[in-house]
Amino acid sequence: MGKNTPQAIRGTQDIFGADAEAFAFVVETFERVRKLYRFRRVEMPVLEMTEVFARSIGETTDVVGKEMYSFVDRGGDEVTMRPEFTAGISRAYLSNGWLQYAPIRLATHGPLFRFERPQKGRYRQFHQIDAEIIGAAEPQADVELLTMADQLLRELGIQGVSLQLNTLGDSESRERWRAALVDYFTAVRGDLSEDSQERLEKNPLRILDSKDRKDQVFVGDAPKIDDFLSDDALAFFQAVTDGLNAAGVKWKRAENLVRGLDYYRHTAFEFMPDVGSTAANTLGSQSTVLGGGRYDGLIESLGGQATPAVGWAAGIERLAMLVGERIEPKADAVVVLENDEHMMNAVQLLARLRGAGFSAELFASGSPRKRFDKAKKIPSHTLVTFPVTDAGITVRVLGDGGEIATAVENLVLTRP
Ligand code: ATP
Ligand code: MG
Repeated sequence: MGKNTPQAIRGTQDIFGADAEAFAFVVETFERVRKLYRFRRVEMPVLEMTEVFARSIGETTDVVGKEMYSFVDRGGDEVTMRPEFTAGISRAYLSNGWLQYAPIRLATHGPLFRFERPQKGRYRQFHQIDAEIIGAAEPQADVELLTMADQLLRELGIQGVSLQLNTLGDSESRERWRAALVDYFTAVRGDLSEDSQERLEKNPLRILDSKDRKDQVFVGDAPKIDDFLSDDALAFFQAVTDGLNAAGVKWKRAENLVRGLDYYRHTAFEFMPDVGSTAANTLGSQSTVLGGGRYDGLIESLGGQATPAVGWAAGIERLAMLVGERIEPKADAVVVLENDEHMMNAVQLLARLRGAGFSAELFASGSPRKRFDKAKKIPSHTLVTFPVTDAGITVRVLGDGGEIATAVENLVLTRP
């Protein structure tokens, strides 16, 4: 690296090798699973007007208050590089009149940007997979999303991560709970962390979410949502847990779980590593893998009609860390050109192989010996070479099934 070589921006990553394989495996598995649940794919802009996030996520959250990459563009617009998907998808629902498809089930993945202190599992540019159901008020929507998340983790082979589930009640329950929390924490105000003293005014629920030891001392005995739930809110939560039980999804009640963002109602959840598990070791204290809940108030805050919605997002990097080492899949064939005169035969063969759906890689540079050495390092089912025989040019195939020699046109392509 020369003195004048530019460096990568702090908190960004160049993902390559086994890490890139694990990343791709997460995305491919998500794509497969979301199709099983009939979620439709959407592609969303990275840039949105800043107000999209300010109005929906809430000014008092860490994300909007401290973490956004916002700037004025050359046209004078205040824009932000998306810190999450939900607000942009809700904006798109309104901009495009997706109400006509409601309830609509959407899935996407891509990069997000938050100005945070980089550490293991926490970056400034990171990536999420995301699933949302917009326009569905029924608890069955929450059950479907949670069942999908649970199946995804199983298909990724991730163990030692459990679903922590809570309800924040409807607006009425939530307001009464909030008032009780304000009373409770005001009494110990002086002993709270500075951040939480501020939260007490703006967003008291978030004190329950605090990672500061000073606050955690008081969280255990804080008023519980269960004492404030309306009959409707209780019935809703009951329907969600009944659905999870029927679908065979394991869950644990987490009474102090609140989500970082302002807009949640009813169901709130996180998939977290179990204490002492390998997953907890791998991720350290940055432990939430997948989180989400119901955000019935969000679309209204963007100026739409009251629209029920529920969704989740998961960090691809954190999932990839739990997936562990992934090796590249075996190639179906590697083709070694021994003599450059046969290049067109090799090109013909490669076209036939790939056209028939076989993965194949060509080794045709350096000395013949080097070509063989490189080819042998590639995990593959079959090695193909071009020796010149008495009968002319043939293909020699060395593979699991022994050795055959034939002309390119006569080669029968079958799965090993
Ligand atoms: P945390 O409490 O870890 O900051 P959060 O509540 O800010 O998480 P969400 O906004 O719910 O996280 O995002 C959902 C998921 O996205 C997280 O569970 C995590 O897997 C991932 N995630 C969030 N922020 C980052 C980041 N800066 N780097 C990597 N992954 C992240
Ligand atoms: Mg955060």
